[in-house]
Amino acid sequence: MRFREIVQPTTLDEAVNEMKNSKFTVIGGGVFLKLQKGCVNKGIDLSKLGLDYIREEEGRICIGSMTTLREIEKSTVLPDCMVQSVLQIGGVGLRNIATIGGSVCGKYSFSDIGTALIALDARLKFHLGGELPMIEYFHSNIMKNDILLEISFKKPGFSSFKAFKHNYTDFALVNICLTSGDKIRIAVGARPGKAVIIKDINTKHNARELLRDVEFSSDFRGTGNYRRSVAETMLSDILKEGLFWK
Ligand SMILES: Cc1cc2nc3c(=O)[nH]c(=O)nc-3n(C[C@H](O)[C@H](O)[C@H](O)COP(=O)(O)OP(=O)(O)OC[C@H]3O[C@@H](n4cnc5c(N)ncnc54)[C@H](O)[C@@H]3O)c2cc1C
Repeated sequence: MRFREIVQPTTLDEAVNEMKNSKFTVIGGGVFLKLQKGCVNKGIDLSKLGLDYIREEEGRICIGSMTTLREIEKSTVLPDCMVQSVLQIGGVGLRNIATIGGSVCGKYSFSDIGTALIALDARLKFHLGGELPMIEYFHSNIMKNDILLEISFKKPGFSSFKAFKHNYTDFALVNICLTSGDKIRIAVGARPGKAVIIKDINTKHNARELLRDVEFSSDFRGTGNYRRSVAETMLSDILKEGLFWK
């Protein structure tokens, strides 16, 4: 994607002003936008808004939308599943630039970090639109003309993320994340559809039963049956890890 003009607001009020009266695109790390075709009048670069931070506040983790995947990877306060999910993404060069905000707002069905955030029951805070649950945003058609400010979630007791890829730099064939705190949440993504949450987990006793109602489809990376089989193995492994955290 090309821009006729790129602005770098230093306050949110300035950013909102820039969003008026002109076709614009918000720029996070710009990594995915760079791959897209077309030309837009204005690019609004968020890098001067102070949105790159990771904080722990009253048991909740708050991550600024401009925090890079590399900062997440190096963090010592984030749950294991977040770190494991970003380690799946490209190389260090890419993770140095790509942001968590761009990863959420892109709503990519292959997303690794999206699956982890859905399992973490994350909430999103937008500048104009306020707060909403990540899963609601991910599955809606809204591509808001808004700025994602922050992603937050309650710190889980245990969490584990696994993805299966044909090779290191490929998108996941399927990915799974389990978190446990007040309750256990399991998200399955890259099916190749967007990540979903497994329902009624208390009535199911093993990985096969847990995944029975999850829909897996075929694409050039693999068949639906293959995805299901890989997902069952990964979830069994996570449940075995669980024997050590109970
Ligand atoms: C080669 C390559 C391989 C990749 N492999 C994987 C992978 O294996 N797994 C995986 O999960 N991801 C993968 N990704 C995606 C990557 O993790 C990021 O999600 C992606 O680069 C977008 O992040 P960004 O900061 O560059 O966003 P940008 O390219 O800047 O923006 C992406 C979209 O989000 C919008 N946006 C960005 N920030 C905000 C904000 N704060 N508020 C509102 N809207 C915003 C933009 O307008 C745009 O529509 C890959 C990307 C590339 C380029």
